[in-house]
Amino acid sequence: MAEAGSFAERVKQQADIVRVIGEYVRLKKSGQNFTGLCPFHAEKSPSFAVHPVKQIYHCFGCGVGGDVFKFVMEMDKVAFPEALRIVAEKCGIAIPRTKASSPEERKENHQRTLLVEMHREAQTFFVQQLGGTLEGKAARAYLEDRGLDKDAIARFGIGYAPSGGDALLRFLKAKYKEPLLIESGLVSRDQSGGARMYDRFRRRITFPIANDSGKIVAFGCRALGDDQPKYLNSPETPIYSKSNVLYHLDRAKEALRRADFAVLVEGYMDAIAVARAGISNVVASCGTSLAEPQIKLLSRFTKRVIVNYDPDTAGQLATERSISLLLENDFEVRVLALPAMNLPGGDGAKYSKNADPDLYIREMGVEAYTKLLKDAPPYVDYLIGRARHMDLSTGEGKLRAVNFLLPYVQKIPNRLLRSEWATRIAQQLRLEEPVLRAALSKAAAERRSGLRVAPELVGRAAKPAERRLIRMLAEADTFRHELAQRLSDAGLCSGLETEKVFTALIAANLAGAPIETTEVATSLEERDRRMLFEILFEESSELTWEEAESCLESLQNRQTERALADVQRSIEANPASAEMRSLLEKKQELMRRLAAGR
Ligand SMILES: [Zn+2]
Repeated sequence: MAEAGSFAERVKQQADIVRVIGEYVRLKKSGQNFTGLCPFHAEKSPSFAVHPVKQIYHCFGCGVGGDVFKFVMEMDKVAFPEALRIVAEKCGIAIPRTKASSPEERKENHQRTLLVEMHREAQTFFVQQLGGTLEGKAARAYLEDRGLDKDAIARFGIGYAPSGGDALLRFLKAKYKEPLLIESGLVSRDQSGGARMYDRFRRRITFPIANDSGKIVAFGCRALGDDQPKYLNSPETPIYSKSNVLYHLDRAKEALRRADFAVLVEGYMDAIAVARAGISNVVASCGTSLAEPQIKLLSRFTKRVIVNYDPDTAGQLATERSISLLLENDFEVRVLALPAMNLPGGDGAKYSKNADPDLYIREMGVEAYTKLLKDAPPYVDYLIGRARHMDLSTGEGKLRAVNFLLPYVQKIPNRLLRSEWATRIAQQLRLEEPVLRAALSKAAAERRSGLRVAPELVGRAAKPAERRLIRMLAEADTFRHELAQRLSDAGLCSGLETEKVFTALIAANLAGAPIETTEVATSLEERDRRMLFEILFEESSELTWEEAESCLESLQNRQTERALADVQRSIEANPASAEMRSLLEKKQELMRRLAAGR
């Protein structure tokens, strides 16, 4: 991350990690380290440590750790450049003025500007097609049938992509070069790999999708007839990433702040229907599930959400996933599951249909919808309702229902509230309350002690010899290079629990540059980084070459033991083997070596 000689490296060298973290956590000197209560998990006795010399932090409870930038990124929920600025400011380091952008950056900026401009022109084209052509007339009839009148069409910029196949292409071609047209996603190349290009959207109603500053960056399109797929959207492009955009957010901002809650729906038709009903604080995820960046975006305006997805199976799953993500981001969540409606079928009989917001508002009216929205239950009630549909007649069924609910209840930060929900769940599911409470408090304890700790992090602990060698590779400046060479030549680390840590440290040592443990750490997976940091924080006696030799010997012996076990297995697996003689010889040799090593 910190390139040699870069501003980031300068800040890292000058920044005092104890002082920076000390602004967030009350730290106390303890031995060579500073310790305090971990800000990333709830705890009563300190397991969070900061190392003033190595300039790293590590929590022995939940396993977080890194350098000063990582801490600020996690704590303030910011990206690296912002963390760099914050650290520099805290340490009184002057921030250089942003240098003139590189030619590549300028080129990319220019490209993005052109793409936005192209989308604006495409929008004009689609609107004109809907209003002024014969084909557009049929599309208007369809929209009217869905209750979208002239005003709505104008208000939401609805347009039409004609069936010709290259109408938009011809419209844009004079002004934009071919690669940019392809890049925009509005135009596709022939599937067979030919040079022919054609319009991506054909015979479809078009809905412009704007980013949060109101610039059109994509289109969502619905088939007019029975063409598949029913909905087709713009692909990911330099100006559009699905998970970074919420449909209608650009127009909902003020209403979101005023009402201090958002109605979250699935698609743009739903968002339009709800907005037209006078509820402007509506946004659509435009996909079946909400993504983390979308939640971050929304949290700038409100932290309260009513999720109103389709009540079908996909919608239910999307609702549950969204609830989880929203809770993790400290949102207050309610859920509106619209009741099924009885509609007249073609043969005069009534049939029951799941209602999305669009259909519900059209059939039942604005008032009915507004009332349901007002009474939308907290997410736990919704989930209990879902659990009640499971088979609760057997013990197993009840267990399944509880297991379905627990992860959500666990996420309730307030203990009183959690307890209240436990009572509610017990009553509603006819469970014995003490049993449920036991399960709940166990889950809550797990939440406290390490919700962040994934199961794979709990590996067998590294053996003492490995721990010492790792420490030496990181710190024994007089012989760490030689040690790395020995370990590498003898291949002593393969198959060890700590193999990846060794490999990274050996590579760093053999590369010759002064070793940067945080740099090594960033190249490791979470589990291995955690192991490395724990070892670096151990109280340490002096590191000597004699000790290194004895640790190497111990590794050597273990390697021999493993080889011996392998040979033994081969011997037992096939007693009639032609290679029996050589296997037995090998066994003798390994046993001799082992005896000599001890
Ligand atoms: Zn922690």
